[in-house]
Amino acid sequence: MAANQLSGTTPIIFYDPARHPRYATDTPALDQYGRRIDYLRVSLTDRCNMRCVYCMPAVGVQFAPRPELLTNEELLLVITAAARAGFRKLRLTGGEPTLRHDLVNLVRELKRIPGIEHIAMTTNALRLRKLAQPLREAGLDRVNISIDTLDPLKFRMITRGGNLEEVWAGIEAADAAGLHPIKLNAVVVRGMNDDEVVRLAGLTLERPWEFRFIEVMPLTGVAGLAEEGIVASAELIARLEQHYGPLEEIGHAPSDPARTYRLPGAKGVIGFISSVSDPFCATCNRMRLTADGRLHLCLLRDDEVDLRAAVRGGASVADLEQIIRHAVYIKPWGHGLPAGVKPTLRGMSELGG
Ligand code: SAM
Ligand code: SF4
Repeated sequence: MAANQLSGTTPIIFYDPARHPRYATDTPALDQYGRRIDYLRVSLTDRCNMRCVYCMPAVGVQFAPRPELLTNEELLLVITAAARAGFRKLRLTGGEPTLRHDLVNLVRELKRIPGIEHIAMTTNALRLRKLAQPLREAGLDRVNISIDTLDPLKFRMITRGGNLEEVWAGIEAADAAGLHPIKLNAVVVRGMNDDEVVRLAGLTLERPWEFRFIEVMPLTGVAGLAEEGIVASAELIARLEQHYGPLEEIGHAPSDPARTYRLPGAKGVIGFISSVSDPFCATCNRMRLTADGRLHLCLLRDDEVDLRAAVRGGASVADLEQIIRHAVYIKPWGHGLPAGVKPTLRGMSELGG
């Protein structure tokens, strides 16, 4: 493979398995703190057909030129190596993953990779009306759909142009295609949609969905809005209890960041993802692959390991597995927001949430 350098000081690490210790390959990859990392969030593109105010700034977003993105072939090689290193679950995200050329075939190929057990997707649902059924048939297991408001005008404002009706059609198509359980996500921003939390949670009274409220995070390009607009989950829970009465606490699976509850008599559940007010780093099981081929080790830090250079330098699957195992090993313990350390290199639309 091409010559690489290992650097512990810059956030981008180029790791050369030929020059550095080999990791055992007979067990799933563990990080230096003993966490098993088996969930890879795969960004398929940094582009999007919306421009949500908490995700992208209004101007100045630079998209990666197409040659910089991993091709389908390169992506399949990387995921094959990741599966050998112990990754079992994939989430396709973006940008907007449904903008990826040839998505249905890509999902079919990803599902055939030995070791990959589950493929989910996070999407704004604008293209799901057409794609839900073919994606299900290709092997997609389920979807999370972003919907921050039930008011069409407000939706247009928050997403800078999105059409709420299309999103509803996408949700119904996903439901009809059996992409269950359907999970809906709202990023809550004070003064923007926090007044809708009661109504949004109320959707679970009649539908067996999980509605998740996400604390807005200070990613590059939106840090000011996030810091001013954050509403801690505890405040939302108090507001919901005031309206609906005591919530039934359901708890959460160790690696699921959402703490879940049920409104009295509801068919579905609600969840809270409190990355800022109550971080879940101790049970983190995930890493991210950017569309331009870097492993991003912690959502709220800049550290990355370059896989694209290795792939394009001719690395074998075994070499890539070693690089991925190294990336897992050096994954940081957690984010540094309480100490004032904020990510600076990438926006959320590059990292996929
Ligand atoms: N375009 C798809 C969508 O919106 O569902 C997938 C990509 S989007 C970046 C993934 C998730 O990140 C969405 O649920 C979105 O609401 C969330 N998100 C975006 N910006 C965020 C921020 N600043 N803080 C917290 N979540 C954010
Ligand atoms: Fe696009 Fe999703 Fe970001 Fe909204 S949250 S701008 S839909 S990538």
